[in-house]
Amino acid sequence: AAKHLGRNNFQIYEMSQDQAQQQDVALISRLRHAERNGELRVFYQPQVDAATEDIVGMEALVRWEHPELGGISPGVFIPLAEESGLIVSLGEWVLRTACAQAQAWEQAFGLRLRLGVNLSAVQLMEPDLLEVVGRVLKETGLDPGLLEMEVTESISIKEVPNLVENLHGLHDLGCRIAIDDFGTGAASLDYLRRLPADRIKIDQSFVRNIGIDPDDEAIVRATIEMAHRLKRGVVAEGVEIEQHFEFLRANHCDELQGYLFCRPLPQASFERLLAERQRLVEGEGAAA
Ligand code: C2E
Ligand code: MG
Ligand code: MG
Ligand code: MG
Repeated sequence: AAKHLGRNNFQIYEMSQDQAQQQDVALISRLRHAERNGELRVFYQPQVDAATEDIVGMEALVRWEHPELGGISPGVFIPLAEESGLIVSLGEWVLRTACAQAQAWEQAFGLRLRLGVNLSAVQLMEPDLLEVVGRVLKETGLDPGLLEMEVTESISIKEVPNLVENLHGLHDLGCRIAIDDFGTGAASLDYLRRLPADRIKIDQSFVRNIGIDPDDEAIVRATIEMAHRLKRGVVAEGVEIEQHFEFLRANHCDELQGYLFCRPLPQASFERLLAERQRLVEGEGAAA
């Protein structure tokens, strides 16, 4: 009986593996046309100055609205896009869309907001990455100094042989580099030492434990201090509650990003937020 059960279990396991694989294949073939079908959007999440709470930048985050399945999380489809190579065209689309948007907002509101765009390891291996980024900057007219490429720490320096070279190339174009999800990779300090990074983004798994785990608090504090000693900026991700904010401000974190301030917003909502802020500033000016 046990043997029988075992075999059944094995079959169930095999089935579900198989189904998962089939679903992935179906998602990938749909994703292939998502851009052309207008199913992709770029959302924008504000980054605020920790001292003034002014919006000083934003991160571009891709969204996919599947016609039958609804919104699919980037945590699900980005890995599939990487596996299938689709991330190269998808990433270029996000970059172009976000740069054009940032440039339009700069002209409409006179705000020089920094724009963070995530780069996948697969894109960093592309021999023409620098050409693509250079072309997008030229075509959209965005000041390269406003573009910050976010490189996640899970990318291995060994697996992407030209990683360091490509990041220097991005610097030469005038772009900034941020190390994303800092502290979660296997080689955080090696990364910091070898990559030409302007900023680090403290991963939300540490920020979440502020007020809960004294060890994580110590790591956050030490990371901020280390970043500053290395003359790098530091942003905290996943700031959700007042207590996180207080702690990070008290420990001199430069910028903050998280639900406490704002969720990632569709383009029109982000624009309303900027217009609202501008009215407030103008109102203050008129009152003075
Ligand atoms: P990430 O680059 O670390 O982006 C931050 C993620 O944290 C976003 O998730 C954002 O919505 C979420 N977040 C922001 N504030 C809070 C908060 O206060 N609490 C919590 N719990 N979460 C918060 P999202 O948009 O689901 O993206 C997940 C990941 O997918 C990103 O992590 C990034 O690695 C990847 N991704 C998203 N868009 C792109 C893209 O255009 N290209 C590439 N290559 N990867 C992307
Ligand atoms: Mg990011
Ligand atoms: Mg992150
Ligand atoms: Mg991430």
